[in-house]
Amino acid sequence: MEYRRFPLSCECGGGPKQISGIGFSVNREIVIHWRCARCHKRVCTVRPLLEAWSECFGGRPLLTADTPDDRRFLHSIGVKFADE
Ligand SMILES: [Zn+2]
Repeated sequence: MEYRRFPLSCECGGGPKQISGIGFSVNREIVIHWRCARCHKRVCTVRPLLEAWSECFGGRPLLTADTPDDRRFLHSIGVKFADE
């Protein structure tokens, strides 16, 4: 599966050594708990889902929904399509 890696960066400039948990907040934010490879600090990264998407793909996300279920799901998390 093709995907873009979500950029994670500690305040020391280090990247993740280990991801210890990924989930979503009730406010539709993605929450990633990880440990920095450089300073070994535990870091919690929280981003609104669309902002995280934009960080991966740069700019406004362009999406295609293959099925009505895909479209309903994407609508439910706040995604808008170019034809809307
Ligand atoms: Zn660090």
